[in-house]
Amino acid sequence: METLLPTSTAGSLPKPSWIAEPEKLWSEWKLTGDDLLQAKRDALLVSLQEQIQAGIDIVSDGEQTRQHFVTTFIEHLEGVDFTKREIVRIRNRYDASVPSVVGAVHRPKPVFVEDAKFLRAHTDRPIKWALPGPMTMIDTLYDGHYKSREKLAWEFATILNQEAKELEAAGVDIIQFDEPAFNVFFDEVNDWGVAALEHAIEGLKCETAVHICYGYGIKANTDWKKTLGSEWRQYEESFPKLQKSNIDIISLECQNSRVPMDLIELVRGKKVMVGAIDVATNEIETPEQVADTLRKALQFVDADKLYPSTNCGMTPLSRQVARGKLQALSAGAEIVRQEILATK
Ligand SMILES: [Zn+2]
Repeated sequence: METLLPTSTAGSLPKPSWIAEPEKLWSEWKLTGDDLLQAKRDALLVSLQEQIQAGIDIVSDGEQTRQHFVTTFIEHLEGVDFTKREIVRIRNRYDASVPSVVGAVHRPKPVFVEDAKFLRAHTDRPIKWALPGPMTMIDTLYDGHYKSREKLAWEFATILNQEAKELEAAGVDIIQFDEPAFNVFFDEVNDWGVAALEHAIEGLKCETAVHICYGYGIKANTDWKKTLGSEWRQYEESFPKLQKSNIDIISLECQNSRVPMDLIELVRGKKVMVGAIDVATNEIETPEQVADTLRKALQFVDADKLYPSTNCGMTPLSRQVARGKLQALSAGAEIVRQEILATK
């Protein structure tokens, strides 16, 4: 990346009210068929424009192409029955009705590749595309077929690799895998989670990122955070293994979080997307607050490897608040960029 401190969003942006109920997580589409396809494209263009106007350097589709960051991908696969639902505990935190794995999983056709081509055709900026990570995918399903989390994760990683290679060919510059499960299942992360993630990125030449957060600003997550004590040291468990992995970029939640910044030291050598925007509050950060978080991170990551970002996705926020937060991110990064350039 040629830009110093290139900004990006870690996740989704709000949906326009004409496509889905706004300010609500995972709200249903209001349209179907070709109308929905057209509306998703329109929403993608609006989202892209908002990022460009806010001065975001690495842009995305704002996740306008999906209803849910995990299940929309899984809906396109065979071997999963969405009518056969079971209640399972998600990330040891909340119960949800989830689809069942009923046979061998595979991807009959590309999922997001046409959407990525559409985004590529509409901007010259670097683009980032998010996919769910294998461990987070298995944690969102009931597995009545493989009956092994590791085996199912490996199968999903194979599928993700097929999709990722086609996204790369479509002109995607960075492919990000969302793995909030990495902040929960530490033994599995180290036993096979990072290996499954590396399987998903095998043979890719574009950059790859893993996004590990404390989740959207929903009650189940904010309640969980209250139990984590004064210092959140979850990253400490997965970082040594990730530092040795082939993943290029690690995306973290740092704004208003109790993550000790010095944990970033454990992934020295990697690029780090530092979350400098809290997605769990409507309060818009000042550029100075963003700059302050970035300055703290700079103690542990070299300037050419620091990617200012949001903590997580902003779907549940109003468009106005999200717009303000994107602008604050840009302005905060610009303050620190000037400080770095002034010392050179
Ligand atoms: Zn997140």
